[in-house]
Amino acid sequence: MPALDRTLYVVATPIGNLRDLSLRALDMLGQVDVIAAEDTRVSAGLLAHYGIRARLVSLHEHNEHKRAAAIIESLAAGKRVALVTDAGTPAISDPGAALVRAVSAAGYAIVPIPGPSAVTTALSAAGIAAPQWLFLGFLPASATARRAALERVNALPYALVLYEAPHRIAATVAALTAALDPQREIFIARELTKRFETLHRSSLADASAWLAADADRMRGEFVLIVAPPGNTATEDDAGEHDALLKPLLAELPLAQAVRIAVAQSGAPRNRLYQRALALQKTVKATS
Ligand code: SAM
Repeated sequence: MPALDRTLYVVATPIGNLRDLSLRALDMLGQVDVIAAEDTRVSAGLLAHYGIRARLVSLHEHNEHKRAAAIIESLAAGKRVALVTDAGTPAISDPGAALVRAVSAAGYAIVPIPGPSAVTTALSAAGIAAPQWLFLGFLPASATARRAALERVNALPYALVLYEAPHRIAATVAALTAALDPQREIFIARELTKRFETLHRSSLADASAWLAADADRMRGEFVLIVAPPGNTATEDDAGEHDALLKPLLAELPLAQAVRIAVAQSGAPRNRLYQRALALQKTVKATS
């Protein structure tokens, strides 16, 4: 190991399969003086698997600020400290950011040791050729806040990436289907790198039924990736589509107006649907 003491190593650990610990992570965990862990029992299991003995201290969302002071004292005493969480990369929907900031502000070095993260693992297998994606982490628990969060991102031209736990997976998929164009594609990555790893692709409209068809499909940990909305229309197209949609929307419910506009123009349903939503909002805002 390079002579980098007084350093906080931010170490990614496996998200399921223990063999996914990198060689560099293994070296570092074996050589640091202290390991700050989200749940010391979980990390003790990983360390035991690799025959590593290290002093573990707990660092979780409720004590992160307080613990940061103690870790800075250890660094001041010339110690090398590693930060790990229960699974994956620290600070990705996990504690870590406050500690990193405090250590950095105190003038000590931060060295990230990259490795698994559920978000990049799922994206690598999704086959969604979106150049840009937006990581939403966990959506809010309350239905109203969840709806508002999805409305904010509905029309953005990005793939949406979310984390979800088993007890909320059905509600979240239903909320995505209600808030976004149900024809958008969803990729469900369940139990990545584990025995019951499942990768499933469908439209949002079909996803709830797929989940409900087998109780096992709702068990475990999930990453959800929703493909971006259809290609953005050119300005010429948008003008034509508006001219078609406006009179239809004046007389008909949105879904029916979109169906007729799709039949008449041959334009992608998703594009017209997004445009109709935008027009409807403008009409409401000005009436
Ligand atoms: N720091 C972690 C990372 O880098 O991915 C994420 C921690 S967050 C508290 C835990 C969430 O990550 C789970 O609820 C799930 O949404 C996702 N996750 C973690 N491991 C997973 C796995 N093996 N398969 C699918 N999703 C997983």
